[in-house]
Amino acid sequence: MMDVAVIGAGVVGALVARELSRYELDVCMLEKADDVAMGTSKANSAIIHAGFDCQPGSVMARMNVRGNAMMDELAQQLSVPFKRNGSMVLGFNEEDTGTLQVLLERGIKNGVPGVKIVSGDEARALEPNVSGEVVAALVAPSGGIVCPYELTIAAAGNAMDNGVQLFTGFEVVEAHFENGVWTLVSADGNEVQAKVVVNAAGLFSDRVAAILGDTDYHVFPRRGEYLLLDRDQGTMVSHTIFQCPSAMGKGILVTPTVDGNLLLGPTSENREDREDTATTAEGLATVARLASKSVPGVNLRAVITSFTGLRSCSTAHDFVIEPSKNQPQLVEITGIESPGLSSAPAIAEYVVSLLKEMGVQLKEKADFNPYRRPIPRFREMDIEERRKLIAEDARFGQIICRCETVTAGEIVRALHQNPPAHDLDGVKRRTRTGMGRCNGGFCTPQAVEIIAKELGIPAEQVTKCGGGSRLLVGKAKEGDLDA
Ligand SMILES: Cc1cc2nc3c(=O)[nH]c(=O)nc-3n(C[C@H](O)[C@H](O)[C@H](O)COP(=O)(O)OP(=O)(O)OC[C@H]3O[C@@H](n4cnc5c(N)ncnc54)[C@H](O)[C@@H]3O)c2cc1C
Repeated sequence: MMDVAVIGAGVVGALVARELSRYELDVCMLEKADDVAMGTSKANSAIIHAGFDCQPGSVMARMNVRGNAMMDELAQQLSVPFKRNGSMVLGFNEEDTGTLQVLLERGIKNGVPGVKIVSGDEARALEPNVSGEVVAALVAPSGGIVCPYELTIAAAGNAMDNGVQLFTGFEVVEAHFENGVWTLVSADGNEVQAKVVVNAAGLFSDRVAAILGDTDYHVFPRRGEYLLLDRDQGTMVSHTIFQCPSAMGKGILVTPTVDGNLLLGPTSENREDREDTATTAEGLATVARLASKSVPGVNLRAVITSFTGLRSCSTAHDFVIEPSKNQPQLVEITGIESPGLSSAPAIAEYVVSLLKEMGVQLKEKADFNPYRRPIPRFREMDIEERRKLIAEDARFGQIICRCETVTAGEIVRALHQNPPAHDLDGVKRRTRTGMGRCNGGFCTPQAVEIIAKELGIPAEQVTKCGGGSRLLVGKAKEGDLDA
């Protein structure tokens, strides 16, 4: 019997579980996918927003500004890269200048530190590559960048290191509440019992709420398409460059990523389908056109990949984080659209305070360890650190991914460290294998060999991303592939 079951292992569920792992509680995460960070937390703009966009007084504003402030310590504890590169919103005309003024006032009311408006020339002094047409800009130094799936993996891993159990492939399809206990049933008939349930199912949080007997919620998907550019474009800007926001979102941005690439996007389009992550020619053309308006010199020939993320929007346009009004021992977290990534640490803290008010006993663990042992990043080490690592384990001396300088040792660690990767994409998200310019053309065969060996399965059974996504169909000739 669990004390708390968290449904959904996106950034919110993972951080809620980590926060709960501070206490003497039996906690689990139930995730329908084969890995953590497979929903909205996998594909987004990766910005830790400063908080000037949100309506003053909203839950969103409170969570965003608090979450932003928590990020330095959290990133340091979890050993994930985080950079306060600052945000800049560009104004191209008089109407935009009025919008910048509104954002400034909101930022001040929300308690965003250091937010100010600068002239077009001052903006270009800070960012020489922004358009000559810019007449003014809002600058917020507390804006930052992070890798969203890395943060989620690290939070889930740290929660697991502190005793939380992760059940992947557990899609909650049925739930009963009897004699003070929730029974959650998965699609394949497995059951987990828990005294309290936290619904952190993102874009599916309304459906999960309905399964739990709560039909008050509705969320809908809003697609956002992106272009990711090679590292040689990563220094085009240092701030995250926005255009003025609209009712559909924060507009197209141009931003460096924490891994040194340049990201352009997202579009903003309401659609019915909650699974449709295909990109479209029109969407990507819009991204290219609008990004070039902000930074005209961006080299669109340097695109290495494109992707789509799905926002989890609600008509109220605010986060809902509350004990269920209809069901006992249940906390609902829904409508976590942008800035949900920025807000996630604060949402987790708030959820734990709600659980306390609901009577969950929070006795601190004497041995809680907030620090996560990271997978070594060979590419970031100096020669002495590299020598030392190779002396400890020779597999760190074998480069598998040439574009991203990833070693065999890092891949092995990704397959065994919490939460362990099970497939090629899981290894990729944890180590960056295959994320470079060649898109895995050179490293995939060697990575497959290592995965097969470490998981003790034939190479033909290694998948790209679980299910039937096998990479190999058989052997062309006898070799030592699965030896
Ligand atoms: C285009 C785009 C850009 C964005 N940019 C930013 C940004 O720059 N900064 C920012 O702060 N925010 C941004 N966001 C918002 C941010 O990405 C989300 O708010 C955040 O990732 C939501 O996390 P989550 O954990 O609530 O949801 P998710 O990551 O979707 O996690 C929910 C999990 O629940 C699982 N699940 C669903 N149903 C079930 C079930 N029945 N049983 C078990 N598990 C289930 C899913 O598989 C999923 O893993 C952006 C979003 C999008 C789409």
